[in-house]
Amino acid sequence: MKIVRTKSDLRGLTRGWRAAGETIGVVPTMGALHEGHLSLVSAACEQADRVIVTLFVNPKQFNNPEDLAKYPRTEESDARKLDPFDVDVFYVPEATEIYPEGFATNISVNGVSDGLCGANRPGHFDGVATVVTKLLVQTDADFAFFGEKDFQQVQVVRRVVEDLDLGCEIVGCPTVREASGLALSSRNLRLDDAARQKASAIYAALTDATAMITAGQQVSNVLDQTRDKLVKHGLGPIDYLELRREHDLALTEDTRDPARLFVAVWLDGVRLIDNVIVRDT
Ligand code: AMP
Repeated sequence: MKIVRTKSDLRGLTRGWRAAGETIGVVPTMGALHEGHLSLVSAACEQADRVIVTLFVNPKQFNNPEDLAKYPRTEESDARKLDPFDVDVFYVPEATEIYPEGFATNISVNGVSDGLCGANRPGHFDGVATVVTKLLVQTDADFAFFGEKDFQQVQVVRRVVEDLDLGCEIVGCPTVREASGLALSSRNLRLDDAARQKASAIYAALTDATAMITAGQQVSNVLDQTRDKLVKHGLGPIDYLELRREHDLALTEDTRDPARLFVAVWLDGVRLIDNVIVRDT
């Protein structure tokens, strides 16, 4: 695995692969790699001839400077975690490779960006859409792998790729969880043992709610009960707990639609998100 830090070095490699007729898969990350990221890497290695994992802590997608400052930076151990995989390139660009001086373009996606995390984190999805567009262009990828833990992000990126004819297939991969059900996240590193224990109530509450909705209970009642349950477990405040359609992320109470239940909740100053399928496509 080569560590590459400039877009021109990267282009040198991707040109050769393209000339040889090889396909390219990319896994964009912000580092602090865990099994969730590695599941994407594994999917990429299965699907593409060449695999690039990117590490860039994107300042444009942090609406809170403290969150950006606290974000873990562990490049060396991240590289070691990639060793067992057939990764060709670990692309770790300097900020100027992504946002050179004078950079003035913003990619903003309407609709799917508006609710959920978009409502609570102004500018976040503009930052995501802008950096992912840059990374897809720089890596010349045929496939890009994203985790469904951040399902709204997957839908935002799909929209950008379709609208801008980026010609890259977006592959959504299932959420990887701890045995307790807690979705793996780099932010979990900021939780102590007691908080992690509490956080496992999130997935339990989502799966209980799904069972109640599937059994025909009224969605708004189920959501109210679930909010109470989260608060009783010491979680909160809750930014959102909502049932939304998969394809356009519109709010729904109609469980005939393929839909997911989405939550964002605070615990000890850490914002945790998760979602589960209520009705599959
Ligand atoms: P991040 O480094 O947090 O930006 O995440 C990089 C990629 O890993 C994104 O596509 C995330 O959705 C994905 N990811 C993060 N956590 C998980 C998880 N628990 N399961 C699957 N994918 C994940």
